[in-house]
Amino acid sequence: MNFPAISVVIPLYNESLNIEPLYKRLTAVMQGLQLSYELIFVNDGSRDNTLEVVRSLAATHPEVKYIDLSRNFGHQIAVSAGIDAACGQAVVIIDADLQDPPELINAMYAKMKEGYEVVYAKRRQRKGESFMKLLTARLFYRLLAAITTIDIPLDTGDFRIMDKKVADALRQMPENHKFLRGQIAWIGYRQTYIEYDRDQRHAGKTGYTYSKMIRFALDGITAFSNFPIKLVTFMGFSVSMIAFIFACISLYIRYFTNLPVERGWTSLIIAILFLGGVQLISIGILGEYISRINTDVRRRPLYFIRETNIPSLLNP
Ligand code: UDP
Ligand code: MG
Repeated sequence: MNFPAISVVIPLYNESLNIEPLYKRLTAVMQGLQLSYELIFVNDGSRDNTLEVVRSLAATHPEVKYIDLSRNFGHQIAVSAGIDAACGQAVVIIDADLQDPPELINAMYAKMKEGYEVVYAKRRQRKGESFMKLLTARLFYRLLAAITTIDIPLDTGDFRIMDKKVADALRQMPENHKFLRGQIAWIGYRQTYIEYDRDQRHAGKTGYTYSKMIRFALDGITAFSNFPIKLVTFMGFSVSMIAFIFACISLYIRYFTNLPVERGWTSLIIAILFLGGVQLISIGILGEYISRINTDVRRRPLYFIRETNIPSLLNP
C-alpha cells in the first residue's frame, strides 16, 4: 500500500452545505502542492444529510475517505478518529466550515519543510463571531497560559499541519477528554506558527454551544494544570487565618470587655454562608478532576464507527 504524503482530517457536524466548496478549495490547494494526499471526512453524528454528501463524493473520488461515527462524540473525538485513520507523512487538521482557509496549507507546508514538526495557524482576527465568543475565548486562552507550565499557544484552534511523529504520539495518548491543542504543545518537537485572519462560517451555524465551550475549557484546564487544586489549599489557609483572627477578637470581647453579644446573628450567618460557599466551590473543583479520572478509568473506546470506506478500520 502506498502511503500518501498528506492526510487532511475534516470533522463534520451538520456541514452538508460546506462540503462541496471545501472539497473544491482543498483539491485546488493539494493539487498545487503536487503531492499524494487523502481527505478523511469524519461525520460526527450529523442530523442533516452530511453523510450522503460525503458518501457520494467518495463514490467518485478515490482520495476521499470517510468515517461515520455512531453518534455525536464532539469535535475533539471526531478529529482524533480522523488522526487514528490517517496514514500520511504529514497530517492536516482543518474545520469544515471554511473558517480555516485551505490556501493557508501552502504556507504551513512550506514552513514545515524548513524543519518544523508542527505548524499551527494563529488567529490574528476572527470575523463573524459574537462579541461574547471572542471575549470568552480571549480570556480563556490567557487564563490557561497563566496557570499552565507548558506553552499552549494563544488564540490558536486545531487548524495545523503536523508530522507523522506527532500524530503517532497523539495516538498513544488515551485520555477521554481531549484537548488536542494542549496535547500537541505538551508532546513537544519543533513547533512554530503562521498568522492568519479567520474567515466567517461559509454556511450553517456553529456546533459549539456555550455549554460545549465551558466543558472544553474545563477539559483544557484540568488536563494541563493543577492550579485550581492549589487554589483550594490556598483558600483553606486563607479562611483559617481569617478564622483565627476573628477567634482572637471574639475571645477578647468575651473576656476583656463588657460589650453585649446579642447582635452577633449577622456575623454568624455571614460566616456560615461564606464557609459553605468556599467548601462547595472546593468540592466542585475536586469534582471536576475526579469526574475526569472516572471516565478515564472506565477505559471505554473513544468512539464507534458505523460506516467507513477505509478497509483497515473495518477489520482492525
Ligand atoms: N464539529 C464536530 N462535532 C461537534 C461540533 C463541531 O465535528 O460536535 C466540527 C464542525 O463540523 C467543524 C469543526 O468541528 O468542522 C468546528 O466546529 P464549529 O465551526 O461549529 O466551531 P467554531 O468554529 O464555532 O468554534
Ligand atoms: Mg467554525
